[in-house]
Amino acid sequence: MAEPLPISAVARVLVASKSVYMTVHQRPDGDALGAQLSMALTLGKMGIRVYMANEDSVPEKYLYMPQSKKIISHNPAALRRLPPRFDTALVIECASLKRAGITGALARRARNIINLDHHLNNTDYGTYNLVDTSSPAVVMLADALREVMGAPLTRDVAINLYTGIYTETGGFRYSNTTPEVLRFASRLIEAGVDPRWIGEQVYEKAPLRHHKLLARALQSLYVRDGIAWMTVTCQDMALTRAKDEDMEDFIEHARSLKGIKVAVFMRETAKGGIRTSLRSKSNLPVNRVAEKFGGGGHAYAAGATLTGVSIEEARRLIASAVRAQAKGESRRS
Ligand code: 5GP
Ligand code: MN
Repeated sequence: MAEPLPISAVARVLVASKSVYMTVHQRPDGDALGAQLSMALTLGKMGIRVYMANEDSVPEKYLYMPQSKKIISHNPAALRRLPPRFDTALVIECASLKRAGITGALARRARNIINLDHHLNNTDYGTYNLVDTSSPAVVMLADALREVMGAPLTRDVAINLYTGIYTETGGFRYSNTTPEVLRFASRLIEAGVDPRWIGEQVYEKAPLRHHKLLARALQSLYVRDGIAWMTVTCQDMALTRAKDEDMEDFIEHARSLKGIKVAVFMRETAKGGIRTSLRSKSNLPVNRVAEKFGGGGHAYAAGATLTGVSIEEARRLIASAVRAQAKGESRRS
């Protein structure tokens, strides 16, 4: 954070809490989970009662993360057993409380809500808003909080933080890979993280169904006007028995094409929506495109869910939104 004051104020609120409830956004990623689980370890060691609930379950590949099995998800009975009041709720990587779905609503049981995020369109819904859009990953904000609280950087904490920074930078490849990021990663390795082992957990443990679905997704890939398009239908999912989490890295294959400006990955969801991931390889801020459909994210990586449209209609809507955004950008430059 630029100003030390909000971090220390937020740290004081956490340290003074007897119970802390934590939740992250739907379809949690490595960064959100890394921040949540490192904070769970840190606060737990300080004798604070920690409760974690997320709307969607931890993807299988992230189950190596220490404390990950303590997160409640898809378990109404366990949700009902949560206390009626918390001192504090720590809501992680959610531009709005809605991004955490049903588990976001539970944050309202807390006296204080701490909104910890690094996204551009955050709505400042917290009692305390620790939102730093210049931060490369939310795990770096979580680590800054840990440091101010004077809590140790244990190996387990470091494994969670490293998972966050490693995945959020696409394995230290994206534009958010700053000198500070590499210094952060090096401290985590000094604290006992084995980068080879984490690399294997995250990128080299795919189930066969992942590759079978990827084969179908790659068949759908084409490029038009500098945009790479990739789609997955419900039929593709049914035929390969794949899960939602199997598609987390598919957009990377579209993004890796030579000469494109934007990559778009669309998949039909069981609920009938078209879940869309956008990546920019140019100066076109894809979060602006996502925002037009009620989504958001970062300038280089964003997403949205379009409802009430077919995949073809969604493609047309996204294509014209990208064109409009590109026109706006060229007028500005
Ligand atoms: P992904 O395409 O990997 O799901 O998401 C890329 C980025 O956009 C992430 O930082 C994610 O938090 C953000 N994002 C994805 N979908 C949404 C959405 O529906 N709403 C908002 N506000 N952000 C999103
Ligand atoms: Mn993040």
